[in-house]
Amino acid sequence: MRLRIDAARRRSQESYRRQQRFVNDVSHELRTPLTIIRGYVDLLEACGASDPEIFKEAVTSIKTSAQNMQNLVESLLFLARADQGDQPLTKVPVDLDELLKRFVEDYRSPRVQISKLMPCKIFGDGEFLKKMFTAFLDNALRYSPPDKPVKVTLTTEDNFAILKFIDRGIGIAKEDCEKIFDSFYRTDKARTKTEGCESSVGLGLAVAKWIADRHDIKISVDSKPGEGSTFTLKIPTI
Ligand code: ADP
Repeated sequence: MRLRIDAARRRSQESYRRQQRFVNDVSHELRTPLTIIRGYVDLLEACGASDPEIFKEAVTSIKTSAQNMQNLVESLLFLARADQGDQPLTKVPVDLDELLKRFVEDYRSPRVQISKLMPCKIFGDGEFLKKMFTAFLDNALRYSPPDKPVKVTLTTEDNFAILKFIDRGIGIAKEDCEKIFDSFYRTDKARTKTEGCESSVGLGLAVAKWIADRHDIKISVDSKPGEGSTFTLKIPTI
C-alpha cells in the first residue's frame, strides 16, 4: 500500500515538474518576440513614422516576431491535441514519390533538389506527411548557407522507402542528435544562427516525430558539425 502511494506521489511530482518546465519554456519563447514588438512600438511612438528607414525596420521586425508567435502557438496546439488523442489521421494508400514531387514543387525553393525518386507506395495521411516533410526541409534550409543546395532522395530497400533530406549546413554535435526531437530543444549554434529571424521555436522536430511515430517511420540523423546533416526516414511500404 505504502509503495503504491509513494509511486503515485512520484508520478504527480514528475508531472508537476514537467508542467513547470513547459510553462517556463513557453514563457521564455514568447518573451523575445514580445520584447521586440514592444521595443519597436516604443520607437515608432517616439519618432513617429517620419523616418522611412526606421519605419521599414520596425514593420519587418514586428511582422517576423508576430509570425514567430503564430508558429509557436500553432505547434503548441498541434502537440496539445496530439497529447489528448485529438489529432485523427486518415490513412490511405499513397504514392510517396508523387506526393513528394508535388510537395517539393509547392515548397517553391530553388535550393531544394530531388536527386533520386523511386516509385513506392505507403499507407499514410498525406497532409500529415507533408507537415513532417516541411519540418525537415525548413531546418535543412535554415541551418545551411543560402548558396548551398538541399538534396532530397527517395529510394527503396526491401519493404521500406528510404527518404533522405541532405544539407551541407552547420551540422549537429553527436550529443545533440538524440535531444533535438524534444520540445523546445535547440543547439547553441542554432540559437545564434536564428536569432532575430523567423521562426525557430524548437518544436518542428517534436511535431515531425509525432507524425513519424503514427506511421511507424524510423528517423535517423547522420551529421558532422561544419559539414552538414542527413535526416533519413525509413518508411514501411505496401
Ligand atoms: P527549430 O524551430 O529550432 O528549428 P526543431 O525542433 O525543428 O526546432 O529543431 C530542433 C533543433 O535541432 C534546432 O534548433 C537545431 O538546433 C537542430 N537542427 C534540426 N535540423 C537541423 C539541421 N538540418 N542542421 C542543423 N541543426 C539542425
